[in-house]
Amino acid sequence: MIRRSPVLALWWHAVSVEGANVSDEGVMARLGSMTAGCDLHLHSDASDGSVAAAQLATDLGHVHMAVLTDHDTLAGSEAFAQALDSELSPPDGVELSLRWSGGTFHLLVYGYSLASTELALRIDELAMARRNRNLELLERANQAGLEITEAEVLAAAGTTDFLAKSVGRPHFAKVLVDRGYVSSIQDAFDTYLAKGRPLYSPKTLFGLEEIGPLCADLGLVAVIAHPLSLGVPLTSLPDTLAKFQRQGLAGVECYYAGYSPQQRVELAQLASGLKLLITGGSDYHGSFKPGLAALSGFGDLSVAADIGDRLIERLHDR
Ligand code: AMP
Ligand code: FE
Ligand code: FE
Ligand code: ZN
Repeated sequence: MIRRSPVLALWWHAVSVEGANVSDEGVMARLGSMTAGCDLHLHSDASDGSVAAAQLATDLGHVHMAVLTDHDTLAGSEAFAQALDSELSPPDGVELSLRWSGGTFHLLVYGYSLASTELALRIDELAMARRNRNLELLERANQAGLEITEAEVLAAAGTTDFLAKSVGRPHFAKVLVDRGYVSSIQDAFDTYLAKGRPLYSPKTLFGLEEIGPLCADLGLVAVIAHPLSLGVPLTSLPDTLAKFQRQGLAGVECYYAGYSPQQRVELAQLASGLKLLITGGSDYHGSFKPGLAALSGFGDLSVAADIGDRLIERLHDR
């Protein structure tokens, strides 16, 4: 396993390019590794991914940097970082759902030792709220005649306790598939679990006005995930993002697996115009999002090494 301090890695990065000797196999191997990309948005079975954090890190192979960003939990963070073979030490990451005037959106928060920050207290609050919401979801399912049990949902999430992992709708979806009520995870959402469908129950959410300034004070980097989910037309997106920026938003996930190459470039131009950090990732969930791979997304994703470098620089600047 290669492990360097972020600063050393940046230095190593620079000298190995300038000092490359093509006849030196060792240097060539390192040069090869320099093309390794990043993935700054990954889910493990600590939330609604299907692969355990350490296994996920191992599956990635050698990368420039990767960050685990489970929903509302840091439970997989340490195991992931320990098993990761990367050029830059990964910060912790977490994905939070936030409310805003236009609905909800997802915020990726990056930083070191997140678990010992004040943000972790908010995350604990979310875990309690999530547990209550899951019990409500279960009750609604049963009332609707869907015979699913708490034990089945917990088993689908690989836990025995609603608080130990971030259990959510994808786990209910899996149980509905296993029970034969629906044909796929997507079918479960479309029929029962998506907003506006019979089992949907809203989550307790914070707003960016609470989380953004907290992140800024703590030296964390807050990035809006898959920003087109805001449902804001591209023409008014700059205004919305500028407003979020005033509330502590630091970056935009432009290189997102679910977006077209053109959308990615447009978002990067927009972010760059606002002097917001550009990030990218796959949103890998294992079997909970079939067909979506870590690093390469749907086959056409590539998040360049310097995107990881900029995130680390920003974390160190703060
Ligand atoms: P929860 O945190 O329990 O509200 O679940 C949110 C997760 O469910 C998201 O991160 C996605 O992984 C998944 N999800 C939410 N909405 C949909 C949808 N309409 N179709 C498929 N998956 C969805
Ligand atoms: Fe998810
Ligand atoms: Fe998300
Ligand atoms: Zn995600």
